[in-house]
Amino acid sequence: MHFNRTLNFCATPVEGEPVSEAADAIELVLRSPRVVTPQGERPADVAVAGGRIAAVLPYGTEPPPGARLVDLGTDALLPGLVDTHVHVNDPGRSEWEGFETATRAAAAGGVTTLVDMPLNSIPPTTTTAHLEVKRAAARGRIHTDVGFWGGAVPGNAKDLHPLHEAGVFGFKCFLLPSGVEEFPQLGPSELEEAMREIARFDGLLIVHAEDPRLILGAPQPSGPAYAGFLASRPRAAENAAVEALIALARRLDCRVHVLHLSSAEALPLIAAARRDGVRLTAETCPHYLTLTAEEVPDGATQFKCCPPIREAGNREALWQGLLDGTLDCVVSDHSPSTADLKHLDTGDFGAAWGGISSLQLGLPAVWTEARRRGATLADVVRWMARGPARLAGLTTKGAVAPGHDADFAVLSPDESFTVDPAALHHRNQVTAYAGRTLQGVVRSTWLRGERIADHGTPTDPSGRLITRENA
Ligand SMILES: [Zn+2]
Repeated sequence: MHFNRTLNFCATPVEGEPVSEAADAIELVLRSPRVVTPQGERPADVAVAGGRIAAVLPYGTEPPPGARLVDLGTDALLPGLVDTHVHVNDPGRSEWEGFETATRAAAAGGVTTLVDMPLNSIPPTTTTAHLEVKRAAARGRIHTDVGFWGGAVPGNAKDLHPLHEAGVFGFKCFLLPSGVEEFPQLGPSELEEAMREIARFDGLLIVHAEDPRLILGAPQPSGPAYAGFLASRPRAAENAAVEALIALARRLDCRVHVLHLSSAEALPLIAAARRDGVRLTAETCPHYLTLTAEEVPDGATQFKCCPPIREAGNREALWQGLLDGTLDCVVSDHSPSTADLKHLDTGDFGAAWGGISSLQLGLPAVWTEARRRGATLADVVRWMARGPARLAGLTTKGAVAPGHDADFAVLSPDESFTVDPAALHHRNQVTAYAGRTLQGVVRSTWLRGERIADHGTPTDPSGRLITRENA
């Protein structure tokens, strides 16, 4: 079978309609026996024109003259991952991470779009002026596409609509101290005020859901015992916060997304609310799906995050929540700090910064555990590309389908590697995954038809700043 130089082709696409408005010549064809499309995995040739996917064609279609054919051998072709939960911390705490290092790590790990959290940078993304400072810091330095969440903090309800109009994807809030003083939590009346305001323009509230009263009432963490830290962040605190959020979302008809769910006990609450029509979504993270409390050594503060990594039984229940569709996305919650702030020397879980670095490792970490449970690459793509793209309303990201951006992750699914912190592009190489053997090696990453990383090495920064669609 042949296809024409332009998009008026004679070959029949495998699926979907070719993009009719585009008239760009096909510049690139990627060929793989395992192309992961929204309809499942199949052998196919993916034609790229003008940085977008022009068509998904039968495997072995002869490319048009002038188009470059890249035969991926036995490697799988996935959409570039969309990571909607990344703390870049730039400007202000760029010694923790930064736009350059974060997006280099993302590109090396198969992520092509990330959305930055509004806190830990100084300023936080709580006004349009602050958003401009963040954009200026990112411009010209990013290897992937980058967008921004706004923040809802006490006193900024009037800033939420302008931020929405300026293109943030939604608003993050905390119900208890966030860990940095310039991003305070919302009290009950402030939360309701923010939700009313966000509902008014049909925005999205994304929430760190732990109940402050129950955390305050739990034993305070200190010293190197992981069990002590775990007891300080009980499941009940997550469950109660999710329950309260559901009630508010229902009453105020506000779209709400639960961030980094760790307590699997909250899954039935979420599933029931959704059945009732409450506009609620939820995510979990690679560390909750791959690591367990039982295996965290005492003093190993690289495993500290909030909410915490829980027991093996809880992990299995989270997998069930993913497989049955209660959980929409798996995103990194990449939240690094300097090694000093992790207090690795004393191993004090009370003093250490809470956050796990995994931006570069999310895909192999999740794939390693997914395949063990009979899940497919198509499932992983649904959780790590499609789901987050949908959450952020990015209609041209997260799928190998005509009309989408030609963003790809090329994965060798059966190959394994041992995590060497020195091979990570993160600004700080502290990671809970050091020394673990993971399956799935990211061979290359592509953004709008250009290779942005090859065998773990990023090329020049060619990412763009993105905004909410229709902003
Ligand atoms: Zn976070």
